[in-house]
Amino acid sequence: MNPLRLLLLGAPGSGKGTQTSKLLKHFDHVKSVSSGDLLRQQIRLNTDLGHIAAKYIAEGKLLPDSFVTGLVLNELSSRRWLSSKSTWLLDGFPRTVSQAKSLRSELKPHGATLNMVVELDVPESVILERIENRYVHVPSGRVYNLTYNPPKVAGRDDVTGEPLSKRSDDTAEVFGARLANYRETLSPLKAFYSKIGILHKVSGETSDIIFPQLLELVQRELTKN
Ligand code: AMP
Repeated sequence: MNPLRLLLLGAPGSGKGTQTSKLLKHFDHVKSVSSGDLLRQQIRLNTDLGHIAAKYIAEGKLLPDSFVTGLVLNELSSRRWLSSKSTWLLDGFPRTVSQAKSLRSELKPHGATLNMVVELDVPESVILERIENRYVHVPSGRVYNLTYNPPKVAGRDDVTGEPLSKRSDDTAEVFGARLANYRETLSPLKAFYSKIGILHKVSGETSDIIFPQLLELVQRELTKN
């Protein structure tokens, strides 16, 4: 199989976490990193970066590029993913053109630049409804939806049995700020990846409609000559 280095782009609540879980379940060898999960981990560990992150996240604002870029690049490096043979998926990073440029220049010398970017295009009305029903298992990043994807035991993570919680930045006010940020940064980011020729889009209202489209794109990339 060919290496796959994939970025999932999508509004908060568009289902990046859910699609990522589905892809990881489908392909044993695909692994993922989520910048939001890395930041929430820093908050739990009570680090300096965690303190800074908590403030930005609470207001639904993007962290300064250098903080997130450093964190994600360190993670890629410590997982030994900076290699042309590596296969992985990024969720939530890059979110700005500046982050995209830093990532690209870091990956290029290793022959490990992204080879696919997929935008998850979900109507905003659907997203808003989804957020109300969203619960997460913070340590793993696993996402549940009380309507579409409920946990097997109410309020408990399927794998560990630990309690689920509501994300503190899923309130109407903070969520509005996060959506606004997304709208502002999306077009330049899409233009960047479209110029490189690796941008794709999948559209739909539910993860069951989105996933088969995503799977087809991924399968094509993994098996192309
Ligand atoms: P997420 O889990 O991807 O929705 O991210 C949660 C929050 O973490 C965002 O609202 C931002 O405050 C912060 N964050 C995550 N990824 C990034 C990024 N690439 N650049 C800046 N801030 C980020």
